Amino acid sequence: MTKELIIIGGGIAGLSAGCYGQMNGYKTQIFEMHDKPGGLCTSWKRKEYTIDGCLHWLVGSGPSSAFYRIWEELGAVQGRQMIEHDEFMRIEGKDGRIFIVYTNVDKLQDHMSELSPADSPIISEFCNGIRQFGNFQPPLLCLTYRRSNDLGSCLWWAVEDLNL
Ligand SMILES: Cc1cc2nc3c(=O)[nH]c(=O)nc-3n(C[C@H](O)[C@H](O)[C@H](O)COP(=O)(O)OP(=O)(O)OC[C@H]3O[C@@H](n4cnc5c(N)ncnc54)[C@H](O)[C@@H]3O)c2cc1C
Repeated sequence: MTKELIIIGGGIAGLSAGCYGQMNGYKTQIFEMHDKPGGLCTSWKRKEYTIDGCLHWLVGSGPSSAFYRIWEELGAVQGRQMIEHDEFMRIEGKDGRIFIVYTNVDKLQDHMSELSPADSPIISEFCNGIRQFGNFQPPLLCLTYRRSNDLGSCLWWAVEDLNL
């Protein structure tokens, strides 16, 4: 008997569910109430402009990230160049001073401490938190990488990964 899967919503989650369903031998049907797929992750044309209403950065997009394998499985990253930006964003104060959110945590720490030397201890604590979190792999990936179906174990491993 053919296994069938009905998916409500053709956003990234629904489309991915459809792909994985088919990879696993299901006949899939996606029901989308809008006239195009994509959900929140979409763009549209208005006069001569393309409005990009969605992703500005993609978590786990580097090949060294565990998430990357999922993007590969879904065929989303093949042939695309991932660009690692040096700066995440810049905020300019009324006084003209600029706070740059560097993606390199050491650079960020130096920059923040330079802007506000008195806050160095808390900045150091904050940046150490970022360093620790940088090694975190989402629990979902435990399912893939540690070959477990037990969400409880995965969450436990996530806590271990964070070294809490
Ligand atoms: C401006 C903006 C910027 C963003 N930037 C980033 C970013 O930089 N990085 C990042 O990782 N994420 C970003 N996100 C978040 C990301 O876009 C969303 O988390 C993701 O697209 C959600 O996908 P989803 O499939 O879970 O839900 P949705 O995209 O909401 O999809 C749900 C779909 O279900 C349909 N639907 C709902 N109810 C029904 C129904 N009853 N019947 C049929 N169809 C139905 C909807 O029409 C929709 O198409 C951003 C989001 C926005 C809006």
